[in-house]
Amino acid sequence: MEVNGTLIWYYNICKREVWLMSRNIVPDQHNENIDLGKFLHENSFSRKKKEISFGSVKFDVILDTKEKLVIGETKKSSRYEEASKWQMIFYLKTLRDAGIYAEGVMLYPEEKRRDEVLLDSSSLKMLNEMVNEINLIMEKEEPPKAQKCKYCKNCGYFEYCYA
Ligand code: SF4
Repeated sequence: MEVNGTLIWYYNICKREVWLMSRNIVPDQHNENIDLGKFLHENSFSRKKKEISFGSVKFDVILDTKEKLVIGETKKSSRYEEASKWQMIFYLKTLRDAGIYAEGVMLYPEEKRRDEVLLDSSSLKMLNEMVNEINLIMEKEEPPKAQKCKYCKNCGYFEYCYA
């Protein structure tokens, strides 16, 4: 499985989830608290009025002037802000690899908040390390051990991890 934006997102939530996703182990769809994939779908993609696709990458174009292209994601809450930020950086890198230079912005309208996201040498280095680590996790025979974190109670794998 090739590392994509979704795996980058999961990596920043829980490394065990990366392994489970890579093995197509489906989270509990009946979990009322929803799994993260469903969260992504409902809070990221389907709320957009204008969605632009580039390969497996989807986003809104916020601004396209002579100076720069800015791509944006609108989120309901900043609860997963770190994961969302790194997913955006992955998108920026995907575009850059295709010769398109862009900046990113995360929008949290309900919190009246706007965070700029840049792909610079430091974020690129960290992103490359994440990609390498994700590949190592996926190669392992066993998943990383379950470690309780703030995302567990809303996770579709909760029963799988702790039953
Ligand atoms: S329940 Fe917790 S440890 Fe298990 S996959 Fe979900 S977030 Fe990770």
